[in-house]
Amino acid sequence: MLLTGYSKEIFRAKCNPSFESIHCIAHLDRDISEALPYINSVLGGFEYFKDPPAVTFRMHGKLVTVHPKQIAINGLKDEEEANKILEWLKHEINESWEKRNEIEPCYKGAGKPKVFEILKLLPKTNCRECGETTCMVFAARIAEGAKGQEACKTLIEKNRKKLISYLDQFNLDR
Ligand code: SF4
Repeated sequence: MLLTGYSKEIFRAKCNPSFESIHCIAHLDRDISEALPYINSVLGGFEYFKDPPAVTFRMHGKLVTVHPKQIAINGLKDEEEANKILEWLKHEINESWEKRNEIEPCYKGAGKPKVFEILKLLPKTNCRECGETTCMVFAARIAEGAKGQEACKTLIEKNRKKLISYLDQFNLDR
C-alpha cells in the first residue's frame, strides 16, 4: 500500500471567516509524486502540473488538489464530508498505484472551458440566486471548477443539457 495514513487540518477561509464552507489539508505520510500521473489518468484531472507535480479534480462541487505530500479540498460542508472524500481518495490512490502496470500515465490536464462558451448558455439576468454577483462571475466560477451548473436554477433545460455536455469534455460537472 502506497498511502497508509494522513493527518488532517480543517480551517475556514482567512479572507472571510464567516463563510460557511470549510477547507481541509491532509498531510500525507508518504510522498506520492510517482502515483500522480496514474491518478490523473484514472480520475481525469482538469489541471496537471509537472514541476512541482500536482493534479486538480472537481468532485461534487469541490476542488481537490493532490500534491506529493498533501491533499487540499475546498468548499466542504463539514469534517465528515472531508473524511469521506479523503478515504475515497486514499483508496483511489492506492488502487491506481497497485494497478500502474495496466494504466497509461497521463501528464496533462483536460484543460479549462472558456468562460464565454459557458456565459452564452446562461440566462444573463444577473439575478444572483446562484450566490454570485453576475452571470459572468458564475461562468468564471464554473470554468475554474469551483461551482456546478446546478446552482443556476433558472437555466432552461435545453441549455443545461448543452452546458453539461460542454463541461464533460473537461471532466467538469461531476
Ligand atoms: S442564478 Fe443563473 S441567471 Fe442568476 S446570476 Fe446566477 S447564473 Fe445568472
